[in-house]
Parts: sequence; C-alpha cells; structure tokens
Amino acid sequence: MPELARFRAKHGAFEEANPNAISSILHVDMDAFFVSVELLERPELRGKPVVVGGKPDQRGVVSAASYEARKYGIHSAMPLRTAGQLCPHAIFLDGHHEKYGEWSDRVATILGKFSPVVEMVSIDEAYLDLEGTERLHGPPLAAADKLLRTITRETSLPCSGGLATTRLVAKVASDQAKPRGLVWVAPGQEQRFLAPLPVRKIPGIGEVTERALRALGIETVEQIAAVPLEKLEQIFGQWGTALYRKARGGDSYEFVIDAEPKSISHNHTFGEDTSDSNVMASLLSHLSQKACKRLREAGLAARTLTLTIRYAGFETHTRSKSLAEPTRLDSDIYRVFHQLFRTHRDPKRKVRLLGVSLSGLTHGNEQLDLLEAERRARLEKLTSAADRLRDRFGFGKVQFGGSLGSEGPEQSHDE
Ligand SMILES: [Mg+2]
Repeated sequence: MPELARFRAKHGAFEEANPNAISSILHVDMDAFFVSVELLERPELRGKPVVVGGKPDQRGVVSAASYEARKYGIHSAMPLRTAGQLCPHAIFLDGHHEKYGEWSDRVATILGKFSPVVEMVSIDEAYLDLEGTERLHGPPLAAADKLLRTITRETSLPCSGGLATTRLVAKVASDQAKPRGLVWVAPGQEQRFLAPLPVRKIPGIGEVTERALRALGIETVEQIAAVPLEKLEQIFGQWGTALYRKARGGDSYEFVIDAEPKSISHNHTFGEDTSDSNVMASLLSHLSQKACKRLREAGLAARTLTLTIRYAGFETHTRSKSLAEPTRLDSDIYRVFHQLFRTHRDPKRKVRLLGVSLSGLTHGNEQLDLLEAERRARLEKLTSAADRLRDRFGFGKVQFGGSLGSEGPEQSHDE
C-alpha cells in the first residue's frame, strides 16, 4: 500500500453558508469490488447474479454480491444459506482477500496521482481533496471525471464517485451515483440534495436510530433537519448533536460519536490473577456503572448484557442474558452481571480479566412497564444526579454500594 496522506474533514459552519466553499471533496467507491475483481478472471459471469464468500451450504456470510444478485435481496453480511434460498441459481465463489488487497493498492496508486491528499478509508473506498490540483487536472469536476475514467481504463474495475463540499455529502453522493456514475453536489445545495433521502442513507445511521426516528414519525433526512437541536439532544444525547449536523450535510468528526453505538463494553485485566470474590464483585459493579453512564450519555437503553470471564491461561467464557425490556439503570444492570458471575464463575480457578458488554441498544424505554414506572422515574433521577456529580468530581468519587475504588487500566471500546 503506498504512503497516503490522511486528512481531516473540513469543518464549515453549515448554519452560515460559506460563499467561498468549493465542492472539492471526492469520495471514490469501487462498485461491488470483490465481485468485480473475481470477474476479471471470469468475464463470462458478467451480468449474472454472483455472490462472493463461499458456497450456499457453508456456514459463513456473503462478503459481496453483484448488482444482479442484489436484485434478489442478497447483500453482504447475510448468511450464505439465506442467499442460496433467495437466488438458488446465483453463482457462488470463494473470496481471495490477498488479491483484493493487490487491486486496492493499484487503485490507491492511481488516486495518489490526482491529489496529495488521499485517505483510503477501507479496501475499496477513499476520500480525496482536489482543492489546489487545478493546474494538473483542471477544476475538481473535470479532475473527478478523469480520475474515474483512469481507474476504469487501467484496472477494468467499475467505480463511482461523489463530489461535494464535505465528506458526508460526497459519500452519500457516490452511493447515489452507483454503479459507474459521478454525482456532483454544488456548494449550498447539500441540504436540498439530502432532503428527500431515507434516513438510513446517512453514514452512521443504522437500524437502532432508524427505529427511534420512525417512532417520532421521521423517515427522511428533511424531517430530521426540521427537528430543533435541543430536541434531538434531549432524545439522543451527544448522538443528537451529530444527527443535527449530518442532516445539514456537515461532517461530524469533532463529535465523540460519529455513528450509533452497537455495543458498549468495559473490561479490566487484573495486575495479578485473582480468586478473591469480593474484589471481583466490586470490580464488576465498577465496570457496569461505567458502561451504564456511557449508555445514558448516548440516550440509550440496553436489552442484552454479556459478561466475559477470562481465566489464568487465557481460556475465555462469555455468558449473556437478555432482559424482557431494555434498561439504563445501574442497579438493574449490576444485578444481572452479578448473577451471571455467581452462576457461571468457576471458583476453583483464578481470574485474569472481567468484562461487561451492553448490547441490543435502543433509544428510550419504549415499552415501560407501568407498575415499574414510578420506581424507575425515581431511580433515573438519582442516577442522572450521580452522573452530574461524576462529571464534576471524576468517576472514582461517586459510586453505588458494592463498588470499592478499583480505578485501573481497563480498556473500553465501541464495536
Ligand atoms: Mg464499494
């Protein structure tokens, strides 16, 4: 892979239109990349439904599908078996990832000739900034057209592009351009371009947010843009700030949350393997409180709780429990983790790592148990008061019972 520059999004204030903005951010995305690479050696399969990833009787998932296969509802990450049922006459091919990497490098080399500012964001897509490259390739629109033609000529691989003032709009534009197209969004037209699109077209908006927006009667980007910032933040927390900006075509690099979280995890590796139940119970309480705080900050509730126990010798066990209804309360969540721990831990073995993970995330407790409502309202008030204190004084200071100070180098991540 050639050395490519990375660049950050341009942060224009979208509320005040910038009269000097130019559409110079190009998003290049290869069309059905793995399939296209396979077809280089199997041109007779062109125009047919082709699925890459394995055979339909195998356990794996689809890693790419040709546009003809997509017409049958096949998409990547779908079980191969399902794809086989949807289109039994599709041609199923094994994937060759080393080969895809080589072709990706060839594409990256071409991109590097069009701008010093290229960021490959995955094996088959990249952002370029074409500002200041006029002398070599003409104005951005002409350069983008030339670039896409060059890729097709030199690699025989189909690709599409989107040219706009921001990365977000450029990415949506290249998606709209597929296959083999180029969509240019003129400066000032970002919001109008996005307005009629379904909310899922916005990068970062997944099933969870789509469901929450639909509950509010929101189906299109235009409808998100009509909601005041305060209301979005009230419902979605920090993610609401990002949504507000995204609906106007803005990048959201500066926000902590750029995409809806799929899970929230915290884990801790003990400095020395331990078999002390009290230490572990206390740590578990600490980890679940940290995870819960992040859950609430994102305006989410969790339905599925997963405990990870790694014993000395690296043998790792995970146990999950799904609740009847989603919760965001420390007490509910800790109770489940503690129960999972008591039931599944092997007391004869020393423990190296404990981890908690919250998934099955939703926005708000949509089906709140009415009898529980009052108790929950009181607890929510208490926990949000505790969150405010934690923000002021640091996390170690405010904890509920059972969690003794166990600040440590635990790692956390969103998947
Ligand atoms: Mg692609």
